[in-house]
Amino acid sequence: MGHTAFSSADATTRRTICRLCAGLCGLILSIEDNRIVKIVGDKSHPVSRGYTCPKGRALGAWHHHPHRLNEPRIRRSGTEQVTVTWQECLDDLGDRIAELIETHGPGAVGIYIGTAGLFDGTSQIWRSLFAAIGSPSVYSTISVDAATTLLVQDRLSGNPLLAGQPDPDAKMVILIGMNPMVSHGQNFGMTAPKIQLRQWASEGRLWVVDPRRTETAEVANHHLRPRLGSEYAILGHLTREILRDGADREFLERFATGVDAIEALVARFDLATTCRLTGLKPAVFEALLRDIRATGRLGIMTGTGVSMSRTANLTLLMQYALLAVTGSLDRPGGEWYNPGFVRNADATGWPRCSYDGPGAPSRPDIPSRMGEYSAGVLIDEIEAGNLKALIILGGNPIIALPETERLRRALDSLDVLAVADVIETESVGRATHVLPSYGQLERADLPYIDFLSPRQFVQYTPAMMTPSGGRRPLWWMIAQLGLRLGYDLIGGASPDDMTDDDMLRPLAGNAKASFDEIKAAPQGLEIQERPWGWVDRYLPGGRWNLAPPDILAQFDTLEPPAERPDHFLLIPARQKYKLNSVMSDGTAALREPDRPTLGINPDDAVRLSLKDGAEAIVRGGSGAVCAITSIEERVLPGTVSFPHGFEHQSVGNLTMAAEIDPLSGMVVLSGIPVTVEPTA
Ligand code: SF4
Repeated sequence: MGHTAFSSADATTRRTICRLCAGLCGLILSIEDNRIVKIVGDKSHPVSRGYTCPKGRALGAWHHHPHRLNEPRIRRSGTEQVTVTWQECLDDLGDRIAELIETHGPGAVGIYIGTAGLFDGTSQIWRSLFAAIGSPSVYSTISVDAATTLLVQDRLSGNPLLAGQPDPDAKMVILIGMNPMVSHGQNFGMTAPKIQLRQWASEGRLWVVDPRRTETAEVANHHLRPRLGSEYAILGHLTREILRDGADREFLERFATGVDAIEALVARFDLATTCRLTGLKPAVFEALLRDIRATGRLGIMTGTGVSMSRTANLTLLMQYALLAVTGSLDRPGGEWYNPGFVRNADATGWPRCSYDGPGAPSRPDIPSRMGEYSAGVLIDEIEAGNLKALIILGGNPIIALPETERLRRALDSLDVLAVADVIETESVGRATHVLPSYGQLERADLPYIDFLSPRQFVQYTPAMMTPSGGRRPLWWMIAQLGLRLGYDLIGGASPDDMTDDDMLRPLAGNAKASFDEIKAAPQGLEIQERPWGWVDRYLPGGRWNLAPPDILAQFDTLEPPAERPDHFLLIPARQKYKLNSVMSDGTAALREPDRPTLGINPDDAVRLSLKDGAEAIVRGGSGAVCAITSIEERVLPGTVSFPHGFEHQSVGNLTMAAEIDPLSGMVVLSGIPVTVEPTA
């Protein structure tokens, strides 16, 4: 198999990739006297072609952050945190965890993996640690922004990680509830979004479905603004009509099951019903159907506007249904499934993973998924006394999770809260054990979540900077803790003798090139041709299951949102300069002070006597936040947009931990009713 190798940067600069999200943008660092003086996008990078978002360019400021964690700390019985040696910190942590396991059982010890921890290829031995402990108490941000997507992928294909995305050369694309012009690395890594979106728009059939007129909607050919949470009806109606005229019957017969059930289901989405549910005009659907019939196939991509909503599973199922009836699944011009350069799934397939598992003792009604409890049950588990110790790797749940105040109290009640992070955060401040971690510029990496990329591409990066202080890599801390609990996680070696590369090498075990070949290509390796039709080989029975009974049943229990004229529906907004809790302190923000803005429609603002730039109070199910009013035509009447990622005005104050999708474990964060008022 042929690989294209790329050249290295010149001697005065260093070349790396940003791993804050799945975008994996190429970066060039200018370094003087061991200080990063500038970071720019690598114009010669084969995937990102010079593009970076503000977060990537802020990695230097992040590395030199005035609040970097440098030395381990311990809090002993309610006192202030004190600086200690690693030996003291890890010995104490190991002793306390061992005692809790002895007294309360392994499930009393849990772990929360933040976005930074999930993307760190070197730190994945936490899985071995928790397997060795035998604790099911695993939580991550997956159930905050992606769990519904994984559920539907599992039910349809038997592989929760089989992530589709529109063929970059598709002639028709529908983007739903996503804004890649602002956020492009969550469910998919759309690097250089302007280039890709303009390519799709050049065909005249780039449709954006979003209640907000987003930055992405502005470059699209068509923008639909349906009622929040009604996207499933749009796709259901299109599926119904294509099944009546224009379906790819050969594809359905050969590669799908459950077609009759889907046909029966979508029968309810006649034009009048769909227009009533969505608030859209009939002409919209005529135009959409005209485009689909003209191209035959299409690509569809959904974002957190869908995955975080109450109707996520329904919309995602209808997405697959429309892709199937048009024969677009895993076919050119339709939906493309990147097997991943590292994952190499087109050659190796995918293991049958145990996706479904029992729920946490305090919430048995919410099953575990892929070996994780829903992050929404974390508070319940602590309050019920089931969880006594929590290790946090690269995350700040106080920003990411619902019910901020209740969560603070729960975390404070833990016997052990060990937080590994790069800078001071509120979670760090509440910790019993503070574990100062390498930042991403201080460690080597091999992005292993490469199947979210639009290209079959991999790039190893060496460490860019020499770590200072007592910082250590996450894998080293986990391996050391494992030893103190009696588990050898790294094959008999001492963690002090191991390197990042020793941790990364096994990740490339199935890759399309050896670890050494990947490492030898400073700007990465790529398989240029896209494989098509490979997914069919690994589907259970060779077919997509279009009618998973548990998701179909959710259609029957679907209730229209309660009419609450004094309430607005909350749309969570992403920002270019934050990703979940990453850089939530505003390191990458240009404006000062960094405060959340509340997007509101002009008519609603007049009704509430809200002035642009004035402070407003937003109240939700669990508390209230203050925000600066931003009057925007782009916001649909009856909705307000509020950004994630603010520590002191967290959207978690508006959301409820009990609001969890019972199938996927996803915490519902979109479409939450809130009230808005001017500050007195
Ligand atoms: S889009 Fe931004 S955060 Fe994501 S990889 Fe690129 S520079 Fe990093």
